[in-house]
Parts: sequence; structure tokens; C-alpha cells
Amino acid sequence: MAVKVSSEWLNSCSGCEISLLNIGDAILDLIPSQIELVHIPALVDSKYFGATGESTTLELPKATVGIISGGIRNHEHKEIAEEMRKKVDILIALGTCATDGGIPAQANMWKNEDILAKVYGDCPTHAPAAPPAEVIPAYTDNVKALDEVVKVDIFLPGCPPHPDLIAEAILALLAGKTDWKLEERSVCDTCKVIREKKGGGGSVKRSLESVEYNPDEPIEKMRCIMEQGWLCMGTVTRAGCAGKSGAPRCIQARMPCRGCFGPIRKGAKPMVDMMGSLASVGLNAQSVVDRRAILNRFVGSHGNLRPLPTKANV
Ligand code: SF4
Ligand code: SF4
Ligand code: SF4
Repeated sequence: MAVKVSSEWLNSCSGCEISLLNIGDAILDLIPSQIELVHIPALVDSKYFGATGESTTLELPKATVGIISGGIRNHEHKEIAEEMRKKVDILIALGTCATDGGIPAQANMWKNEDILAKVYGDCPTHAPAAPPAEVIPAYTDNVKALDEVVKVDIFLPGCPPHPDLIAEAILALLAGKTDWKLEERSVCDTCKVIREKKGGGGSVKRSLESVEYNPDEPIEKMRCIMEQGWLCMGTVTRAGCAGKSGAPRCIQARMPCRGCFGPIRKGAKPMVDMMGSLASVGLNAQSVVDRRAILNRFVGSHGNLRPLPTKANV
């Protein structure tokens, strides 16, 4: 009998759903004999309050596996997450917005009222207006990762996660391996650049300058980007972005890792660990521009980013 799968997107950009579909023919081979998609608003219109809106309570169908992309930004997201948790046996947090807040959790550096005042009342491109008070669901007090609201069984980070990993997780679940999880390895562990364990020191370079490399040579001939003086977050970021093969995606493009897979293990603090990594090659961690935001770029939930005591940076 096919396994029922239910999917939802909350505070999401839909990139995770595109990655899910990028599994390609392999997923078509599983539908409908092994997987039955019972709810997937990214592909099929879904009604939450009955087909004609006759119900007063939000309802999702029952399923064995639930997949949620995006974190929790408002009370509608929270209600949907709680309803899905009630209706599924195994819940997967898909993508770094769901596992760690992702880019939207940068908002956690400010209070909600300060964000609304800035966007509606103090924006140079339009006349001041009152924030909408009707129809739009109310904000939660901050942007939350999924596991700050409901129990999560499987964490599949990435912005977006690689289709290979999504397929691997789904196939593992179909085979009854409900304890599937990503290895606790860093991006650096999978990066084959030349490392000399020392750098030139000084201030961290900005990405306005190009990394030094010979485009005719493979990345195995390139010097480690952090040792060249750039902020490369591979040391504190979980491996997996290349899927089953190849070098980390940004390093393949000769760009520093920005940390999109989130911390290597639950509870790790990439900002603190990254300051130590920079110091280990003689770089001045204090010189990272907009340090608090950049070092927590994808991981602002779980209390990593909070409003500062003053409104000076709004
Ligand atoms: S993790 Fe990235 S791709 Fe997925 S919803 Fe968030 S921003 Fe989009
Ligand atoms: S710091 Fe960056 S370039 Fe250096 S090994 Fe790690 S991921 Fe590769
Ligand atoms: S190299 Fe880093 S930022 Fe780039 S895709 Fe991989 S984990 Fe994400």
C-alpha cells in the first residue's frame, strides 16, 4: 500500500519545493504505487476549511509522512504546523528555514513593532501607511524554527536541500528507516582545496574582491578560501549541499560558503565557532562587516538572534 505523504510550505520561498520536484523521474517512479500525495499546496489547490469553506476549523488530511518547508512567522503558520503534527506519524523539517529559521529569521534582530514601523511608516519608496490590521495573520513574537513549535522527527537542512538528500530521506522512510539523519560532518570535511592551516592574517576580505584561483585548474589546486582571507563558513556548516557527489556547491563556483546548511549539530553556535575559526588562521573576526547578521545568516531562530536593547540599528 502506498505511503501517504502530506506537504506544507509556511514561511517559505518555495525553493525547497522546487528542490523536491528536482528529484525528477525518480519520484515519478514512486507515485502512485509507493507514495500517495494527499496534500501538497505547491502542486494542487487545497482547502483548509472544507471544499466550500463550510468548516470553522483548519483541517489537514491524515498521512504517514508530513513535510514542512519554511519556519513559523505568523499564527496561521503555527496553526498549520500544529494541525499537521497531529495528523502525521513522522514530520520532516525541509530546508534551513524550517530547521533553523533561515534567511527570514534575520528579522529576529528587531522587535515586530519596529519592523512594521520601518516598513510601513519609514520607507523612502512610499508614503507612510498604517500596518494592515485585518486579513493578514498576526505575527508570532519572532521567526521560529519548526521544532520551536512542534516535535520534528527528521531535520533536512539546506537552502534549498539537495534533491539527492530529499530522495535519500524519502527512500529511507519507505524502507522503514525512520531514524534517517544527515551525518554530523562539516562542509570543510568534504572540501578538497589546498589547506596549509595558516593564513595571511589581517582583516577579513569582502566579497567585492575575487578569490584567487586558476579557472583552468580543478578546485583541488585552489587554496582554501578562508586561508586566502575571506569569510568561508565551511568549518561551522553541515555538509550535504553537493548531494551524493562533488565539492560543496559554492566552493565549486569559487565562492565562500555562506552557511546555508546551518550548524553541524543541534545546539551548536556557528557565530561563536566561526570567530574561533577565523582566529585560527590569523584573521580578525571583529572585522567581519555586520558580524551578528552575517555569522547567523541562516540560523537566527533558537535564540541566536534577538533584538538589541536599543533601536539604533533599525
Ligand atoms: S530554506 Fe531556502 S529554499 Fe527553502 S524555503 Fe527557505 S529560503 Fe526558500
Ligand atoms: S574554509 Fe571554505 S574553502 Fe576552506 S576548506 Fe572549508 S569550505 Fe573549503
Ligand atoms: S557551500 Fe555552504 S552556502 Fe554554499 S550551498 Fe554548500 S552549505 Fe550552502
